[in-house]
Amino acid sequence: MVMSDFEAQLRAVSLRVTRPRLAVLAALRDHPHVDTETVIALVRADLPTVSHQAVYDVLRALTETGLIRRIQPAGALARYETRVGDNHHHVVCRTCGAIADVDCAVGHAPCLTASDDHGFVIDEAEVVYWGLCPGCAAEPVQR
Ligand SMILES: [Zn+2]
Ligand SMILES: [Zn+2]
Repeated sequence: MVMSDFEAQLRAVSLRVTRPRLAVLAALRDHPHVDTETVIALVRADLPTVSHQAVYDVLRALTETGLIRRIQPAGALARYETRVGDNHHHVVCRTCGAIADVDCAVGHAPCLTASDDHGFVIDEAEVVYWGLCPGCAAEPVQR
């Protein structure tokens, strides 16, 4: 994906195209599932003068307009990613916090079809798989 795609995405949700917004989208495309501090560091590699607050504002605007997805595993910092709209799940390492994408098992977002929706209009199912990543699973236990 090239920059002009990000510009088109921003325009599609009526957001002004700004360098910080483009930089945040590029950072999250290249580094999915990073937390706010990491986004700030990545953006500053391109735009050294951008403020923390500016990045917070960009993350909020992009999340509210659906261009990025905010995930927050229990007890962990919020992470962000550009893969949106498919209700994919995540597997999280209990030891180091590594996160990977897990597709829905079958078909299109089947997890949104609850066995009983109690009359609610459901638009998101939150499933988090917890365990150990291969690196941590290979480490001898230190206790
Ligand atoms: Zn790990
Ligand atoms: Zn993801």
